[in-house]
Amino acid sequence: MSGTFLGTPAFPTAARAALEDSQLRRNLAHATATIRTKRGGVVGEVDEWEQLRLAGEAIKNRVLRHLPRYLEQLERSLTAAGATVHWARDAAEANAIVVDIARRHETDEVVKVKSMATQEIELNDALEAAGIHAWETDLAELIVQLGDDLPSHILVPAIHRNRAEIREIFLREMSRAGRPAPADLTDEPKQLAAAARAHLREKFLRAKVAVSGANFAVAETGTLTVVESEGNGRMCLTLPEVLVSVVGIEKVLPTFADLDVMLQLLPRSSTGERMNPYTSTWTGVTPGDGPQEVHVVLLDNGRTDVLADPTGRQALRCIRCSACLNVCPVYERTGGHAYGSVYPGPIGAILTPQLRGVGSDPQTDSLPYASSLCGACFEVCPVRIDIPEVLVHLRSEVVEAHQQASRVPSVQDMAMKAASWTLSSSARTGAAEKAAGWGGRLAARIGRTAPGGRNVLGAIPGGPAGAWSDSRDVPVPAAESFRQWWERTDGGHRDDGGAGNANGNDGGNGDRR
Ligand code: SF4
Repeated sequence: MSGTFLGTPAFPTAARAALEDSQLRRNLAHATATIRTKRGGVVGEVDEWEQLRLAGEAIKNRVLRHLPRYLEQLERSLTAAGATVHWARDAAEANAIVVDIARRHETDEVVKVKSMATQEIELNDALEAAGIHAWETDLAELIVQLGDDLPSHILVPAIHRNRAEIREIFLREMSRAGRPAPADLTDEPKQLAAAARAHLREKFLRAKVAVSGANFAVAETGTLTVVESEGNGRMCLTLPEVLVSVVGIEKVLPTFADLDVMLQLLPRSSTGERMNPYTSTWTGVTPGDGPQEVHVVLLDNGRTDVLADPTGRQALRCIRCSACLNVCPVYERTGGHAYGSVYPGPIGAILTPQLRGVGSDPQTDSLPYASSLCGACFEVCPVRIDIPEVLVHLRSEVVEAHQQASRVPSVQDMAMKAASWTLSSSARTGAAEKAAGWGGRLAARIGRTAPGGRNVLGAIPGGPAGAWSDSRDVPVPAAESFRQWWERTDGGHRDDGGAGNANGNDGGNGDRR
């Protein structure tokens, strides 16, 4: 997978910058809260929602168990319906295929319907390098493209922008890319949508080649499906002469009937609607109707590596609904750019490291830690991806990758070795307990009382202990070990008032030993 947001620092650094942007946080909090409420309402209407989730999970698991078989069936169905199927191992191969098709049709522009797969492979840059402009036609994608920005949400790539910012972008940039925005444009959603429609219509009517993704690809019939809200996608899929669809290999579904389950799960989870305003399906070429040349590029780009991991492969069940982003407390505060990838939020934190490869760079390795592990993402995921389980699994892979790469042991390694050496001898353990007791009594004098009455230390200055204690209360060690207490009280039979306790609970008689 390519480094889509090249130069993004590791998540903690990027998140810190995002947290300082109060406008961004306001935009995100408003947008995610609105979608969450809508989703909650429409999901609550479906009595058998849990059964639907289980059905969605089962369909996708069946696909992943027999992926080669369903992909070959898809290829046969598509070919029989008049489409041309291409296989792309990686971004470079997929981009070369699309550029070649556009060149053969001697066009210097293509229109695109929102597709995460083409963002993943950076198709727009590859086309641009070949002298071909790619115009995004999804409204949110158009805002991102005109603003020379990066997407920050799966479903609403411009979620970090508010209406006033969008108006400014339209007024400033539309004229450079084609039909200008009306001079009296306000920030009313209706007016913004009308300006975008007029701007895009010109491009739809002119373009010879369109590029799309697909939400689903049915192996049984060779049918591709795109769901969307604005109808711009449908214009893309029907008006140009040539249609090229770049489809991740995990998008395949075995049968047309499986769409029944997916098309119930997806809209309720993503936009909080009972059904999508536009659901377009197409099966190869229909003479005299729609594009007369249809290509399908089946994209791997790291997906078979993900499939090889029994725990991580569940990420390939994802139907890109974005419900996990909208409930994630980390995403809501940092926004999507901090994840440094086209796949932000909880799904990005598990999919991106798997596609790029754990251990490849510090930014990628920081992503499995970009979570509080609260589990809200699993609760809402329509195909029941256990994101927290995969996050923990990837964290252990990150640690392992770093251990293998570094000959110098980390502070944590050294601390664990020292603990193992101490705990493997009762004499050493006893001596360590005594030392901890002295330390505890000393620390009790400088500690403070935290809410709840515990005696705690403040931040430890400098080093790894300083970083660890920056955001935690460090408990003052007990002044007396269990072993000492046992000896002093004869296992609790003799209560002599107790030793001075470092946690602030003075036994009354101080330390008598
Ligand atoms: S992981 Fe689940 S909730 Fe998140 S985008 Fe994918 S399908 Fe939706």
